[in-house]
Amino acid sequence: MAIILPDLPFAKDALVPHISANTLDYHYGKHHNAYVTNLNNLLADTDLASVPLESIITKTVGNSEKAGVFNNAAQVWNHTFYWNSMKANGGGEPNGNIADLINGTFGSFDNFVAEFKKAGATQFGSGWAWLILDNGQLKITKTANADTPIAHGQTPLATVDVWEHAYYLDYQNRRPDYLAVFMEHLINWDFINANLS
Ligand code: FE
Repeated sequence: MAIILPDLPFAKDALVPHISANTLDYHYGKHHNAYVTNLNNLLADTDLASVPLESIITKTVGNSEKAGVFNNAAQVWNHTFYWNSMKANGGGEPNGNIADLINGTFGSFDNFVAEFKKAGATQFGSGWAWLILDNGQLKITKTANADTPIAHGQTPLATVDVWEHAYYLDYQNRRPDYLAVFMEHLINWDFINANLS
């Protein structure tokens, strides 16, 4: 197997009551795992089989004949990045370098939170909201389906999955509630500061 499913960086019940173990059983155990299995099946006996995951993504973006490889590879990468973007007892106001950068870029933490939640809530259909560095500039962005900033030369700092499978068992159709909880209780500022440096 060229690509492996990384361990979750926390226990399945670590994010309760904000994200249930049941959600993680499906989201990590079924969805993320299926992207890994699909990708390995698509890569078998091809010249991409021994290529690192990030390079598979950058080598296949925009190639309609390789859309299946790109979509599964990007989803494998995005989900691993999403798990690391959360932690138990995360959320709230940041510390470290990201705190200064957010204030300098968005004027205040409250403005930043409003912009991030808006990006997630207004992504039509499936996709992701991101905090990224783009040419050294801190930005909030969103991508559709499997698309990912690393395919476009940007540096992701954190992401939230806004596919329905990420929140439907716990929040049903209330995506804005899930995004509010992500900001208040889950976002992992330590991971973001580590990505900055
Ligand atoms: Fe997902």
